[in-house]
Amino acid sequence: MDIFSQIGPLRAFLDQKKSVVKSVGFVPTMGALHEGHLALIKESRKENTITVCSIYVNPTQFNNPDDLAKYPRTIERDIDMLKLVGCDVLFHPSNDEIYPENSIIAFDFGSLEQIMEGKFRPGHFSGVAKVVSKLFNIVQPHIAYFGQKDFQQFKIVENLVQELKFNVQLRCVPIQREKDGLAMSSRNRRLSDEQRQNALVFYQSLQLAKKLLEQGLSLSLIKEEVKKYCESKPGVSLEYLELAEATNFVQTESVKTNAILLIAGHVGEVRLIDNLLLNE
Ligand code: AMP
Repeated sequence: MDIFSQIGPLRAFLDQKKSVVKSVGFVPTMGALHEGHLALIKESRKENTITVCSIYVNPTQFNNPDDLAKYPRTIERDIDMLKLVGCDVLFHPSNDEIYPENSIIAFDFGSLEQIMEGKFRPGHFSGVAKVVSKLFNIVQPHIAYFGQKDFQQFKIVENLVQELKFNVQLRCVPIQREKDGLAMSSRNRRLSDEQRQNALVFYQSLQLAKKLLEQGLSLSLIKEEVKKYCESKPGVSLEYLELAEATNFVQTESVKTNAILLIAGHVGEVRLIDNLLLNE
């Protein structure tokens, strides 16, 4: 695997490769890799001649400085995992490489970022859009891979690509879960054994909400039930449970085709998210 920390040498390397290879796949990550990330790399390897992964903990997408400081960083282990799964190129830049300037531009995604993650994490999606734009311009991939785990983020990136005419196709890869259903996440490393058990409550809540929707219960009652259920576990608090249309990401009260249930909350001080596509 070729590893780059600077934009210039990576661009020169990729320019040369692009003259001979058919397609470049790109998987942007913040590292502390797990099987969820590797599923994206494996998808990219199926469809592309070379796969580029980036590992960069993007400071502008963190609205909470403590969350940024405590974000797990395991670069040596990540490199071993990427080699094992056959990733071709790793881009692992410093903050100075990505944000040498005083970053003054900001993105506003309107209603798309006034709900759920955008509402609870002000500025988060502007930071995501900045770094994704920079990375797309640096790597110029043919296809980029994102996880359904961050579904609203995927919708934001779809919007970004469409409006700014980035010449890249997007893929949304299903959520990879632990055996008991917990969505894999780099933040799971920060949980104690007991918290790890309690964190299951979010996936269980999604399943409970799905069942209650099928039984015809109103969304507001379901939200109350889920809040009670989550907060019956020590250290767990619920931020939101919402139902949205998967295509345009508009919140809804009842299941239409392609609906998605989304949940977020804390276990101790660790913030976790999960979601469940309905009608699958
Ligand atoms: P992150 O490193 O958390 O920024 O994630 C990098 C990419 O991996 C994002 O597109 C995530 O949606 C995706 N991802 C994270 N966790 C999972 C998971 N459990 N299953 C599938 N994709 C995931």
